[in-house]
Amino acid sequence: MRYISTRGDRTPRQFCDILLEGLAPDGGLYLPVSYPRVGQAELTRLRQVLQTEGYAGLAYEILSLYIDDIPASDLRALCEKTYTEAVFGTPEITPVSRLGQSGILLQALSNGPTLAFKDMAMQLLGNLFEYELGRRGETLNILGATSGDTGSAAEYAMRGKQGVRVFMTSPHGRMSAFQQAQMFSLMDDNIINIAIVGVFDDCQDIVKAVSNDLAFKQKHRIGTVNSINWARMLAQVVYYFAGYFYATSGNEQRVSFCVPSGNFGNVCAGHVARSMGLPIDRLVVATNENDVLDEFFRTGAYRVRGAANTFETSSPSMDISKASNFERFIFDLLGRDGAATKALFSEALSTRSEFDLAADPRFQAASTQFGFASGKSIHSDRLRTIAQVHADCGVTIDPHTADAVKVALEHLRPGVPMIALETALPIKFAETIVEALGAPPARPAKFDGIEALPKRVKVLPNDVLAVKALIAEVS
Ligand SMILES: *Cc1c(COP(=O)(O)O)cnc(C)c1O
Repeated sequence: MRYISTRGDRTPRQFCDILLEGLAPDGGLYLPVSYPRVGQAELTRLRQVLQTEGYAGLAYEILSLYIDDIPASDLRALCEKTYTEAVFGTPEITPVSRLGQSGILLQALSNGPTLAFKDMAMQLLGNLFEYELGRRGETLNILGATSGDTGSAAEYAMRGKQGVRVFMTSPHGRMSAFQQAQMFSLMDDNIINIAIVGVFDDCQDIVKAVSNDLAFKQKHRIGTVNSINWARMLAQVVYYFAGYFYATSGNEQRVSFCVPSGNFGNVCAGHVARSMGLPIDRLVVATNENDVLDEFFRTGAYRVRGAANTFETSSPSMDISKASNFERFIFDLLGRDGAATKALFSEALSTRSEFDLAADPRFQAASTQFGFASGKSIHSDRLRTIAQVHADCGVTIDPHTADAVKVALEHLRPGVPMIALETALPIKFAETIVEALGAPPARPAKFDGIEALPKRVKVLPNDVLAVKALIAEVS
């Protein structure tokens, strides 16, 4: 399999060439030249693989369709090392359960080390990075900014890995006590927590400034692990197949997925799975108050918001102003026309912060051909849904999952199972659970007393030079 850019650069690259890169050189995102088609016989075989070899076996089968520059035995070993019951809590890795009589199934993606779905991809990325860097005899310093979920997922994936060091900036004193404890209690030498006296945007600006200093970037081998990384997307494709197999007994059944969305990473993996031939009826995008994506799928207008119009909500991992993976879907929607995609994303968006496809005949295909639908959930919906699911089913869901369940209920179709993706455990967002239920959620035993553990974090002023000095000193 070869990879090309969404903005027209068709220089063929292999998987490991793009693994350690972010954007393509022309500013686009990488996608495979085509999506491998999985026919009926192959679907049946994959269903059997899941039954006999488990999730790791299925992951190997899907990944091997896209990766041909890692020997098969090594790739299999990487999958087996990643998707274990010890790391993900259950033998099914992403078990599917029925949510009472609601007609909705819940697929659990958040039983990994940091209790959010980002572990599903990040754990694999950690093992892939270690493998590839070892093979090349190189090292990498990952620099990131986090408001919570991404940073901890990256740290738990990279801790103790050879050849990789993580510098993770976060806004000083602004993460929840639980999130701070998760990250700052890590004592591994290759994990460096940096609390910036500022807000999340300041952290992001620092990361951008360091990355834009090409000489510094090269000298200190700076890399990232953000959600545009193709390997992360590919890892997520696997659980759509697993969810489908867990929820059905044969391939004639179609299912729908409802996905709580921010950067369009999770649901874009669903789009890839559907494009491969997985029998998905609808892909329902659920947004919170930051409804850029819902607006697009309803109207055809994609309007990026500024910081002032990006709301802080009670499903904070979806508080985005623009969806960084959306360009991948638009590329497919426009018939993989790189020049047209470039015109929208590098010209229209940078000059007017919006584009509108309402009058473009191809926009219809978003729902008719690609199966997309969307909906929105706000704070009061979230509280009501958490309370309702708790009362009806005795299950406590987190605020992001509640957004998905709320929107899923609005898109049920007779005879089509609807799988809502659970993207975090409620303990990560205890305040909102208390608001909805009057009591905090249960805490998994392994997190007992985590807030009292010793912490390791370096507090720095909101200053690029201070961060650069720390990187230069350590690396
Ligand atoms: C990151 C995240 C999301 C949003 O996923 P995208 O891939 O950005 O659409 C939803 N829920 C939780 C809990 C997350 O951490």
